[in-house]
Amino acid sequence: MCIPRSSPGAGGPPRWRGLRRRYVTGVLPLLLAAAGAVRAAPPATTNQVAKLTDASIWKVVKGDDLDTTACLPRDRAMIEDAGNKWKHAQTEHFVIHYEMDLFALKVAHMAEFFYSYIAHDLQGAEDRIPGRSHLFIFRTENKWKKFLEAQPDHKSWTYSFVQGPSMYLQQAENRTKSADVLAHEMTHLVINRFIRGGLPLWLNEGVAEYYGEFAFAAFRGTTRNPHAVFRALRDPVDLRALLATEKYPDNDQAVHRFYESSKYFVGFLMTKKPHENFPAFIAAISTGMTPEEALKEHYGFADFKTVEKEFARFVR
Ligand SMILES: [Zn+2]
Repeated sequence: MCIPRSSPGAGGPPRWRGLRRRYVTGVLPLLLAAAGAVRAAPPATTNQVAKLTDASIWKVVKGDDLDTTACLPRDRAMIEDAGNKWKHAQTEHFVIHYEMDLFALKVAHMAEFFYSYIAHDLQGAEDRIPGRSHLFIFRTENKWKKFLEAQPDHKSWTYSFVQGPSMYLQQAENRTKSADVLAHEMTHLVINRFIRGGLPLWLNEGVAEYYGEFAFAAFRGTTRNPHAVFRALRDPVDLRALLATEKYPDNDQAVHRFYESSKYFVGFLMTKKPHENFPAFIAAISTGMTPEEALKEHYGFADFKTVEKEFARFVR
């Protein structure tokens, strides 16, 4: 369950994310299970077997060595607050602020894996963020709650959220938390580096659902067959209505239906149409082209009726 946000850009509102509608699984057990996972295709930046406890992925930094180029004002304030006990470590594209090494290291591996997977998949897309993204890990529920309550319009059930280039994450500890929520949020974090304009709701969430499925499977060392992922979809949202949605639906069932329909439409474009057309398609929409125009221009649909017909076949 989320509350609305308009833009994935750095100045946009936060992406609240909770556990209400998601299937709950253990993030820590899954991250542990992924230790030793081979980076599956598309290839990551290195072809070495990535161990999630391998600390060579990051460098612990202090003071002036910290890359604060992409810091939001909130991030800067948290880093400078002497009461915070953050340690800081930098990977190639992320700064992780954390207290406990092991969990943070796994999150760092996941972040870089998602980065390389999505960068590879969106070939031609350009990383537009100067400097590293900041990722804050709150060690205890108390610390998370205190932080969350200081955020405007917060929802008490929020487990993690992304705003522009930054992510705020509650550490799982021994509690059962949702791994797919983390994968979905990690996608927002990475996508926000490549796409800076405003995305319509369906595209924003559809892409996060798509990579939350496929990039996360690769991270765990498995692959997902699109035929198995995109089985018949019962009761999809009418396509024209889906593409025009501006607000999250107001009940869990409708939210689930909205996310599923968005995921399927992105999946339709990604798996049934030339995959290499997607970066230009999403870039066009982020700079103001309507989905209808962009579908014509980048996928060659003659008209919207054809899109509807083909999508109806895809979800059947
Ligand atoms: Zn989302």
